[in-house]
Amino acid sequence: MSNKHVSKMSVKKNTVHKHIVILGGGFSGIGVLKNLQNKFAHNNDVQITLISKNNFLLFTPMLPEIVSGSIETRHIVTPLRSFCNKASFYEAEVKSIDLDNKEITMTHTIGREFQRFNTEEKEGHDHKLRYDYLVIAMGNENNFFGNEKIRENVFTLKTITDAILLRNHLIKVLEQASIEQDDKGLRKSLLTFVVVGGGFSGVETVGAVNDYIRESVKLYYPNIYMSDVRVVLISATNNLLEQIDEDLGRYALEKLKVNGVEFIMDTLVKDVTEDKAVLSNNIVLPCYTLIWTAGVTPNKLITDLNCKHDKNHRIITSNHLEVSGYENSVYSLGDCASIVNPHTGKLYPPTAQNAIRQSYVVSKNIISSIKGKPEKDKQLFDYKSKGMMAQIGKRTGVAIFFGKIKLHGILAWWLWRMYYLINLPTTKKKIKVIGDWTFDFIFKPDVSQIQ
Ligand SMILES: Cc1cc2nc3c(=O)[nH]c(=O)nc-3n(C[C@H](O)[C@H](O)[C@H](O)COP(=O)(O)OP(=O)(O)OC[C@H]3O[C@@H](n4cnc5c(N)ncnc54)[C@H](O)[C@@H]3O)c2cc1C
Repeated sequence: MSNKHVSKMSVKKNTVHKHIVILGGGFSGIGVLKNLQNKFAHNNDVQITLISKNNFLLFTPMLPEIVSGSIETRHIVTPLRSFCNKASFYEAEVKSIDLDNKEITMTHTIGREFQRFNTEEKEGHDHKLRYDYLVIAMGNENNFFGNEKIRENVFTLKTITDAILLRNHLIKVLEQASIEQDDKGLRKSLLTFVVVGGGFSGVETVGAVNDYIRESVKLYYPNIYMSDVRVVLISATNNLLEQIDEDLGRYALEKLKVNGVEFIMDTLVKDVTEDKAVLSNNIVLPCYTLIWTAGVTPNKLITDLNCKHDKNHRIITSNHLEVSGYENSVYSLGDCASIVNPHTGKLYPPTAQNAIRQSYVVSKNIISSIKGKPEKDKQLFDYKSKGMMAQIGKRTGVAIFFGKIKLHGILAWWLWRMYYLINLPTTKKKIKVIGDWTFDFIFKPDVSQIQ
């Protein structure tokens, strides 16, 4: 396609005085959308537009359970259109943001998506959109620290596609290993599952993968010796779950060890190929599965944005959640924003909990600005976390509340389930997940590999 399509999209003319554009349909973007829609439900002077490259909200805390199959894929995604009772929604990729001219460009493809893989990359249709208020809520992506080989050879767990690919791969290697009776080395490499990263995602993922692999081998693969199965977690530091608590991190490590997980601590992964990982101590670990949860970084659009960034390339954002130099018009929140916790002086970690709380403050400040209220009425984001929880497999969890009440074991696991169940966006999804958990409790795991 040679003639590039670019169109200017108009906001509803004559009636609209303020146009709020929200970039990103994750926890923070949807939080802002819901609050603003409630406030301006009957106000035709305010138009709200949501743009996101996926047309659903992904409930990431339950992503490891998609890999283990205890929850069905569609039950943790909710269509963004179901949240839009006043706002317009566009499923498109934001391509550029012009902060000075208050304009964004988004792009989308036309026709069948898969053609992009068969022929040359399809050129997108670009559309320009002007805004009065911009909310940047575009999350982050995996950080491979510039190592292309790592990027090409690892599995990740940030999107629903990642979870589907990983689940299929786990089943595939079990099938392959059950055939490879003669080549012991190959069989062992196929049965070595490595997770890199000792944070939330890494620990929850290793717990889910370990349970799923060991249970499936026991039930369905008589040709595979359990002693050939290795599930390994590699961490760059000496502790697990540093975001939660040292004691609970130690408990998680001991419990996972009892469940069969091996740990390689204080070690980096320097290189990865399809069938091995090379560690910073030069140990070579033969494996066909390496799951990377070792770091995140904002996407290129954010890092290239004409504003101030912190050393991790996140947008420096004030406690009013405004982008410096663009006060009263550009707001940033969630994983792409760098916000200092006034209670600790440290940055708020990238969690859904913080993203949702930040969305209240952004909405209030936009409402205040539209209503022309004085600066002193602006809200500050100074949230103190009430608690943190993680699942570590075998119906076990760890939790800390108010910085001092620590729980572990089945009670923490149950609290995790109740808390996240309540926070699932719709009643329909809640019921479906309750159903999944019930069936998972009663029936054996499923090893069908649907490509
Ligand atoms: C496996 C896993 C488990 C987790 N578990 C927990 C947990 O238990 N508790 C917790 O608090 N947090 C957890 N988190 C972290 C949590 O998911 C994030 O902190 C949260 O999603 C941040 O919300 P956000 O809105 O900033 O970003 P996201 O939820 O990532 O949303 C970003 C949005 O921007 C869109 N987007 C990005 N780039 C573009 C573009 N160029 N054009 C258009 N749209 C774009 C994306 O499609 C997405 O809709 C977990 C994360 C993972 C990966």
